[in-house]
Amino acid sequence: MSSTSIQAILQHHAKQLEAALNLDSSSARIEVQCLLQAVLQVNRAYLLTYPEQSLAADQQARYMALLERRLSGEPIAYLLGEREFYGLTFKVSPATLIPRPETELLVELALQHIPQQGACRVLDLGTGSGAIALSIAHARPNIEVVAVDASRTALEVAQFNMQWLGLGNVRLLHSNWFSALRGESFDIIVSNPPYIAADDAHLARGDVRFEPCTALASGTDGLEDIRLITASAKNHLNDGGWLLLEHGYDQASPVRALLQQTGFTGEFSARDLAGIERVSGGRKG
Ligand code: GLN
Repeated sequence: MSSTSIQAILQHHAKQLEAALNLDSSSARIEVQCLLQAVLQVNRAYLLTYPEQSLAADQQARYMALLERRLSGEPIAYLLGEREFYGLTFKVSPATLIPRPETELLVELALQHIPQQGACRVLDLGTGSGAIALSIAHARPNIEVVAVDASRTALEVAQFNMQWLGLGNVRLLHSNWFSALRGESFDIIVSNPPYIAADDAHLARGDVRFEPCTALASGTDGLEDIRLITASAKNHLNDGGWLLLEHGYDQASPVRALLQQTGFTGEFSARDLAGIERVSGGRKG
């Protein structure tokens, strides 16, 4: 077996990745498979069917360049340029947060409040790659979704994803939270805002080191943007409308308190698949 065969690469480099990034062995193997699939433009079944195949010199060079970047910590999603979320594939770039599985809870809760039929206006604040807004728009093609972001480069990524997914029911706007939404009101407002405390050690670890800080950190207690959003959201909600916010693992109680202080009713928190209270919401009126 040649040292550049698919099988040899999988064996040696998965171990290297495992050690360098402290990954478990199956994640490391999957990551090497993903890099090989991207370089060879093949699916996973191909890698398993032709383990003896060797990489050509140019493929080997491209693969090694990606592997080196991954070994130095760059997120696999940025190297591949995409990430799956809610069953859809999203383009991602360092201008956007990488969509996370726990955020699917926010999409599910929003969909529970959106009728299968009939009109409904949904707003996503800080849309980034568009993962939340576009997943909702995809699941409910008859409603209108507005998605805003303060970053123009993030909006370009969301625009690409909107076109890629062929969605015609989404409006993307450049806006710092509600700044460009004067006079507009919605039935549901969702957001995965930045919510990590600025001095949190978590910001110096793993993937987050490479993600945009503006999408992650929010003041000394991580709640600065959630305070801004809860303070203004009622002005942009129809009566009976819901505000649904993702937040940190220990923020459910302060976020419910903020919702109550700003006049929301029916505050609740919902747990993600890890059992952590991850999304809280309240109703206007
Ligand atoms: N859930 C992300 C993390 O902890 C943070 C996302 C956010 O701040 N909105 O890595």
